[in-house]
Amino acid sequence: MKIAIIGTGYVGLVSAACLASWGHEVVGVDKDAAKIAALRQGVMPIYEPGLDVLMAQAVRQGLLSFTTDAAPAIAAADVVMIAVGTPPRLRDGEADLAFVYAAAKEVAASISGFTVVVVKSTVPIGTGDDIERIIGRVRPDAGFAVASNPEFLRQGSAVTDFQQPDRVVIGADDERAAGILQAMYEPLRLQGIPVVTTKRRTAELIKYAANAFLAVKISYINEMADLCESVGADVRDVALGMGLDRRIGASCLNAGPGYGGSCFPKDTLALLRTSQDHGVALRIIQESIVANDARKRRMALKVIDALGGHAEGRSVAILGLTFKPETDDMREAPSIPLIEALQRVGARIRAHDPQGMANARALLDEVEFFDDPYECAAGADIVVLMTDWRALKALDLGRLARVVKERVLVDFRHAFDPIEARRHGFVLSAIGVPQDK
Ligand code: NAD
Repeated sequence: MKIAIIGTGYVGLVSAACLASWGHEVVGVDKDAAKIAALRQGVMPIYEPGLDVLMAQAVRQGLLSFTTDAAPAIAAADVVMIAVGTPPRLRDGEADLAFVYAAAKEVAASISGFTVVVVKSTVPIGTGDDIERIIGRVRPDAGFAVASNPEFLRQGSAVTDFQQPDRVVIGADDERAAGILQAMYEPLRLQGIPVVTTKRRTAELIKYAANAFLAVKISYINEMADLCESVGADVRDVALGMGLDRRIGASCLNAGPGYGGSCFPKDTLALLRTSQDHGVALRIIQESIVANDARKRRMALKVIDALGGHAEGRSVAILGLTFKPETDDMREAPSIPLIEALQRVGARIRAHDPQGMANARALLDEVEFFDDPYECAAGADIVVLMTDWRALKALDLGRLARVVKERVLVDFRHAFDPIEARRHGFVLSAIGVPQDK
């Protein structure tokens, strides 16, 4: 099958490499010329484990190429996949569809022969209808169908998630389009992975409903963590005891500093806006958004507390900046409000991240960055573990203890063994557990 993918970001690039690895002929299209130039030279524009190898293989086999020139790629394609960003609009948090509509116009200008236009981006319910209208208006003669195929991959494990998803969701009101997409995903169906085929609007909602549910689950365990701290219980054991119940499941039960990233914050807000437009109250989701925002702002207080209440002029070493480990993505990372709040009370920030420092530099002012985590911690009054990268969890606490000024550790991710940390003389503060005095 010939597939053109518009947008070669986290989703587009992973989809492109995986679809090509199944034998489809894929062209990745992006308007960012520097990104395409890098990709053509085999340089990865993002950090995603395993993607470089898969991509190089597909390129070598002649199944994957990249271009800025959308027209010929769209004209030749059986399937055009739209995988551009849908960031929140600053003014109201609604999903900004400018990139999606621009891509739809490019598709309209160039489709030839029956083409399935698939929306992979996360878009509000009814966006497929808009795209159908846009293309139909420009090209009333064209044979096409618009389908929804939301993506559920997680950054950091995106390649495996795409190759072994829990399910594939195809939303198509047109049977021919549904059949073409089912054929595209045949390698997954053959592995026994469920392919859920629904109406287009239902598929659009499945994505938001799933993400919002996971966000609520995280907010839920975070509130339990607060209660644990007050009543002297341990949230890790609460999560274990809850998660073993198959009706609940263990994922998204790691209490932490609040969810971030390019999906949960924006998707919960976009779903809330959709519900408000339709006069429906989604109170649980609304509360979860408020609780998460407040939590992210509040986390600095935990660091200030651990500093004995005085942050002015103190040196804070932050280890891990990205919103989660094994990605370079800084979008909505909890480290940002934490650092800004600490700076407001006069703390000096030193920071290290294994892959996210280039993106972090663009977002954070007055932060001293270090390539080496021990250099980052050297002379610091407090060490704050913010993102549980494998490399950071493996740090030698003995060595860390020798370089810091004060042995005070805030572990927002339960990354370190508390007994080990205390053995090295650290006073430890963590989420949802009885606190060191
Ligand atoms: P991204 O910002 O990493 O990538 C988007 C890419 O689209 C950029 O490279 C940009 O240059 C390109 N682009 C924008 N307009 C274009 C146009 N008209 N023509 C060609 N290229 C264009 O975004 P992402 O993180 O990959 O997310 C894409 C969509 O997938 C979003 O709707 C997001 O919500 C959804 N999603 C993301 C994830 C994730 O983990 N990142 C997971 C599931 C779903």
